[in-house]
Amino acid sequence: MSAETTTTEKPTYVLARAEVRAVDRVSPNFVRVTFGGADLDELGTPGSVFDARIKLIFPPASGILPPLDRDTSDWWGSYLAVPEAERGSMRTYSIRDLRVDPSTGTEVDVDFVLHLAPGLTGPASLWASAAAPGQEIFLIGPRRGITGGGTEYTPGDAPSVVLVGDETAAPAIARILEDAPRDLRGCAFIEVPSEADILTIDAPAGVEVQWLPRGDDQLHGLRVIPAVLAHLGDADAADEIAVKDLDGEDLLWETPAYSGLGEEIAASDAPADRYFWIAGESGVVTTLRRHLVKDLGIDRGQVAFMGYWRRGVAMRG
Ligand SMILES: Cc1cc2nc3c(=O)[nH]c(=O)nc-3n(C[C@H](O)[C@H](O)[C@H](O)COP(=O)(O)OP(=O)(O)OC[C@H]3O[C@@H](n4cnc5c(N)ncnc54)[C@H](O)[C@@H]3O)c2cc1C
Repeated sequence: MSAETTTTEKPTYVLARAEVRAVDRVSPNFVRVTFGGADLDELGTPGSVFDARIKLIFPPASGILPPLDRDTSDWWGSYLAVPEAERGSMRTYSIRDLRVDPSTGTEVDVDFVLHLAPGLTGPASLWASAAAPGQEIFLIGPRRGITGGGTEYTPGDAPSVVLVGDETAAPAIARILEDAPRDLRGCAFIEVPSEADILTIDAPAGVEVQWLPRGDDQLHGLRVIPAVLAHLGDADAADEIAVKDLDGEDLLWETPAYSGLGEEIAASDAPADRYFWIAGESGVVTTLRRHLVKDLGIDRGQVAFMGYWRRGVAMRG
């Protein structure tokens, strides 16, 4: 998120001190945390949140949040100015729901995946596993009325979409589908750890939502990649997907407007009939990219490929 300002000179983002209002263990591997507080009153535009990303700053071991300047136009500089031991940890999340109600003020729900196995957990997941009403974190997100802030979902005029993700992308997919026009068509493929992690999404009637429970022993991607390839008619490749295929060293971020690989993006003249949005573990997203772009010849200007996290790597924000 940049430190750009609006014409009224307010930053395009909100840096909010957000208080935990409620904690709901919605399934074995998801905890939904509801945040509130006056600072959130200028956050986001209800009804058009889609996959807007937010940054969350969790307190360090002392439990004391860093002293950030909420009025600055450079929250990032303010964060970096705090000594590292006092900064806490920053991670990226999605808005599962944003409610504006005069009686309660603005409330934001975030669905945290609980990955708590020793050696495979991190500050965000640990914080979420012990979250309790009254605790505070910092939340940085798009300012209300600013369109597109932190949003990658850009289907343009495409009448149909294919949305693909693991459990970390499930909240964004759910928000996209609940904010989408009711005549949207397409499919959503969502891989989750277990059948009990299947949650309710109020999707348009023309979008088929396929939940793909992985089971305890399977690696991320081994359910969702074959399902997507089979849907796109590449049944042979779908049958052959194996653990060795889940490659990708760096975090992939490649959208119709931006290439993290530094590739030239050729503007496509042809109106896209179908828009793809693919997010989750980066090796899984990279594998899908290879099949879609190289094998199936899908125009990469029609796809957003987003590595949300990387197996074995702690994120830095
Ligand atoms: C735009 C965007 C939106 C996102 N939205 C959400 C969201 O709504 N909900 C959500 O839960 N996550 C979301 N994520 C993913 C989240 O930021 C990462 O999972 C992050 O690594 C969690 O931080 P942590 O401190 O728990 O773990 P880290 O300290 O980053 O990582 C520690 C270890 O945990 C592993 N790890 C990280 N995530 C997982 C996981 N899900 N399953 C298994 N192992 C994991 C890492 O590989 C590493 O080995 C989003 C990411 C992006 C970029």
